[in-house]
Amino acid sequence: MTPVFKNKKIKEIIEYYKLPWALSYVTGIAHWDLETYMPSNGAGMRGEALAKISSLRQKIFLDKNFVNLIHQAERSKTLSDVEGGVVRILLRSLKYYEKLPPSFVEEFEKLTSTATVVWRNAKDTNDFKLFAPYLSKIFDMNRQMAEYLSYTKSPYDALLDQYEEGLTSKDVESFFTEIKDPLKNILSQITHSKKYSKVLPLENAKYDKEKLSEVNDKILKLFWSGFGKNFRMDISAHPFTTSFANTDTRITTWYHDRDFARSVLATVHEFGHALYDLQCDPALQMTPIQGGSSLVIHESQSRFWENFVGRSRNFIEYFLNDFQKAVGRKLSVEDVYAYFNKVSPSMLRVEADEVTYHFHIMLRFEIEKGIIEGGLKIKDLPEIWNSKMKEYLGITPKTDSDGVLQDIHWSGGSVGYFPTYSLGTFLGAQWEKEIVDYGLAIGEYGKMEKWLKDHIHKYGSTYTLQDLLTKNKMKFDPSVNLNYLRKKYAKIYGF
Ligand code: MG
Repeated sequence: MTPVFKNKKIKEIIEYYKLPWALSYVTGIAHWDLETYMPSNGAGMRGEALAKISSLRQKIFLDKNFVNLIHQAERSKTLSDVEGGVVRILLRSLKYYEKLPPSFVEEFEKLTSTATVVWRNAKDTNDFKLFAPYLSKIFDMNRQMAEYLSYTKSPYDALLDQYEEGLTSKDVESFFTEIKDPLKNILSQITHSKKYSKVLPLENAKYDKEKLSEVNDKILKLFWSGFGKNFRMDISAHPFTTSFANTDTRITTWYHDRDFARSVLATVHEFGHALYDLQCDPALQMTPIQGGSSLVIHESQSRFWENFVGRSRNFIEYFLNDFQKAVGRKLSVEDVYAYFNKVSPSMLRVEADEVTYHFHIMLRFEIEKGIIEGGLKIKDLPEIWNSKMKEYLGITPKTDSDGVLQDIHWSGGSVGYFPTYSLGTFLGAQWEKEIVDYGLAIGEYGKMEKWLKDHIHKYGSTYTLQDLLTKNKMKFDPSVNLNYLRKKYAKIYGF
């Protein structure tokens, strides 16, 4: 059933919202262009323009009549689900706009845009000391932000909530406590098995970028008939998805000289994000609940496609010929399957496999929480990072570029983002179980997409993560992914 907005106040809200929506729309395109085609000298003025648009959006958003309308609608007792969703999302934005002083927001934006450039430099030259003063300031400002936003237990909770509504450190801690030992166990069985190998030959196989890009296109055409019409793919330094509307959603992928799985799995991962936005109900376009807002649900979609489709035998069989053309030699399904599903501790989070990935997140969570709550010092971070890598993964980064400096998130001001990656991955496994229990097999793409649309995508941001799970008669349950990993890797590594 198509959702309709009946409440008079909500109708007025939606009409006015088209203005800030339009500004977000063009901001989105400017960001996408910045990451894909903008000449590098364009960065300075693009930053100026975006900062102006963002303060214009804030002004428009804080218009007295509009704010009043939101509060009037909030008091209404007869809101439908979509109407309630509109109010919920707007109240969240309002909270940030009202609680954070404009001077603070401006200072934070200036700090993080400089810090991103300094971070890139520091990473290129392996110089943590260069980045440390900026990192200190970013964490100080995040602590200050938590005070502005307010919290009950830990200031870190206020930061987590920015990325996942209602998420607390206690939630994340109990999740990590539940998965830590089982994952350690699985990893130890893998690394002690006879089949374990640190490097597989296919990781070092060079590939033809042109040919691999044809494979990526072919994958997207198979998944989505609107590829090229309401959905496109480009190249960027780091893969990402952005959606302006369900009629214009874009992903990027990346290419290296070797290790073609990185490119293929990134394409499939980003497709999962894109599908969420592409399948949002058309009636929700241009409203505050257009597309998905929960980062955990979003990541559950991308990981579902990456882990359960991209790494599946079915998918590998289907594209084997194309992979052969890209690497220029004969391949077997078994070799490619082992390569796509290889587990081995590694330095970089973005290259980590399904088992070791979460240790990378645990260490970031512990560090972020430690700094925000005041126990850890920025200057000690390289050492703390390395000792945690040793503790969790048994390896030590040789350089800070491969250690504490590897991720862009902190330089951009994001503290509290990382846990959504692990939570989303675990939730992804639950969707897979639901889909299989429903009677679908991986490879029935059209039917899988329909299922995802009906149970998740069409709602856009109508529901919180918790409410969406309740609506689907589900509970967040980490044991589903743990069981899947145990079963799958016992088979692959023979334990
Ligand atoms: Mg993602």
